[in-house]
Amino acid sequence: MNLAVIGVAGVALMIAAFAATPTVLNAEIIHIRAMFAGAPGSGPGFGPGMGPAMFNAIDTALIESYHDAIRAIFLAGGASALVTAVAASVFVAGRVAMPMSRIAGAARTIAAGKYDQRVAPTGIAELDSVAASFNDMAASLAAGEQRRLDLIGDVAHELRTPLATLNGYLEGLIDGVVEPDAKTWALLQGETARLTRLVSDLNELSRADARQLRLDITSVRVSDVVEAARVQLSAEAAKLGLALEASVEPDLPDVAADRGRAIQVLTNLLTNALRYTPSPGTIGIAATQSAGGVAISVTDTGIGIAPEELPRIFERFYRVDRSRSRALGGSGVGLSIAKALADAMGGSLTAESAGAGKGSTFTLWLPGLA
Ligand code: ADP
Repeated sequence: MNLAVIGVAGVALMIAAFAATPTVLNAEIIHIRAMFAGAPGSGPGFGPGMGPAMFNAIDTALIESYHDAIRAIFLAGGASALVTAVAASVFVAGRVAMPMSRIAGAARTIAAGKYDQRVAPTGIAELDSVAASFNDMAASLAAGEQRRLDLIGDVAHELRTPLATLNGYLEGLIDGVVEPDAKTWALLQGETARLTRLVSDLNELSRADARQLRLDITSVRVSDVVEAARVQLSAEAAKLGLALEASVEPDLPDVAADRGRAIQVLTNLLTNALRYTPSPGTIGIAATQSAGGVAISVTDTGIGIAPEELPRIFERFYRVDRSRSRALGGSGVGLSIAKALADAMGGSLTAESAGAGKGSTFTLWLPGLA
């Protein structure tokens, strides 16, 4: 490339220099002719013995030696430009091409599945910003891969327990050590129900993660969703000996939300509140106007959440007390799904607790109508 540029520039300059010959030498030729003009024994404009043929010969010699000089200059200039171009190319190749090929090599390593590959700084500002972006991309790929592996491990773990229980009972039934009575059938049915719930929760979670949830955002009356969620859980609350109370601020504005999904989030929060509140206890749903929308909070007088656990409870499969959650029928992904739904509706879901044993408050905020 460099050589092509040098070649084209050299040829263009040479043509220009040759084309300029008459202009450059004309003044010189006139000057030489004038020197010989008026010499003794000559006619006007001619020196002694100087005829037009002689002048023409001098003109030609002058032009030729001018052309020789131009050729020599371009030859020397071209040679030094060539040497400089080669040296510059070697320098650029060393400083730019080498780090570039290192980045390309790292990209190939990552494409082959080794996500711990990183690129060292090159010392060239522009390339360093490429390397930094590359390293950020590699780190986020590594985190994504880790999440995928964690999820597979968690799902395998969640499947193992109910399957082991089912298998144990079935073996007992075959060997005749377990009675084929109503209690056994109910237990087996409970385990298959747990598996079914886990599969449907995972399906919902994967669609939420992939942002494939179909939402029907409309104008929603808050008192309507609060009442729908309360009614769904009121019988269960009564059965558990827990009070379930709802209060909706008067004249609340409507919110922009998917009605069914908003009810789903609230029933999820209420199910958790029932699950983690021992009797006697109270669960309250309160809707108030807040920050251009409406905040619907579910407060319980239950086991509470320690401050260090609070940030983690929205992670999928994270449970403060794994065996307690499992015994109470939790799959460990309810809050992850609820949060994904709240986010997808343009709202938010947050948790607060004064600490273990001091109850919890979960708040779903939904935006007002635009
Ligand atoms: P799970 O199916 O285990 O309830 P979730 O995703 O709904 O899963 O909740 C995650 C964890 O957050 C629970 O295992 C529990 O430890 C904690 N948690 C959720 N809601 C409450 C609550 N109202 N009170 C105390 N802890 C809660």
